Amino acid sequence: MTVKENLQKIQEEIAAACQRSGRNLNDVKIIAVTKYVTVERTQQALDAGVFHIGENRVEGLLEKTNSINADPVLHFIGSLQSKKVKKVIDHIDYLHSLDRLSLAEEIQKRWSSQEPLKCFVQVNVSGEESKSGLDPNQIISFIHDLSLFPAIQVVGLMTMAPFVENSEETRPVFKQLRLLQQEVQALSLEHAPCTELSMGMSNDYIIAVEEGATFIRIGSSLVG
Ligand SMILES: *Cc1c(COP(=O)(O)O)cnc(C)c1O
Repeated sequence: MTVKENLQKIQEEIAAACQRSGRNLNDVKIIAVTKYVTVERTQQALDAGVFHIGENRVEGLLEKTNSINADPVLHFIGSLQSKKVKKVIDHIDYLHSLDRLSLAEEIQKRWSSQEPLKCFVQVNVSGEESKSGLDPNQIISFIHDLSLFPAIQVVGLMTMAPFVENSEETRPVFKQLRLLQQEVQALSLEHAPCTELSMGMSNDYIIAVEEGATFIRIGSSLVG
């Protein structure tokens, strides 16, 4: 299948999920996760009409940004080591993996733009040892602490659901992230509008859209 065909199929499924859940299609954005694929394949995704690219490694992100012929919105979706912040900070539009104050401090130190960096706070909803992200009950105090860093704007919450055979089992994870988002929104913090939810990957994006995802991160089903 070409990227274009994959994209069409995914868009149709998102449209159906939006209809089922009474959502506006325009509120769901697809991030093509290109970490497994070449620059050529990434270019095909952009040519097919993808506007958002996601990478989980600094090297991959820089390779893609240096070689593609387009100006997509760039998302850093992987764990970010503090010492690598200065390498990527000027290239990314969104960070999906803010999970500690030391990372916020480093971003504050390296950030040179007028506008703050759009960040998602990563939440380990399922509590799996292998997953990064903060425990749900740490989120509110963490977000309060982030007010110390003018370089950071908390645009939303991000999670990775466990990989399961039956994707329906991921639904409670996505529901819980949305409840947590509502808790943050209720605080009306200037630095944390928290209007976005980054959740859903190849295996579970349909469920994530039904549960309110505004950014879905799709690698294998879209670009291979
Ligand atoms: C790799 C990755 C994805 C995409 O995974 P697929 O299952 O290939 O769609 C999404 N989010 C994060 C954080 C990833 O590392």
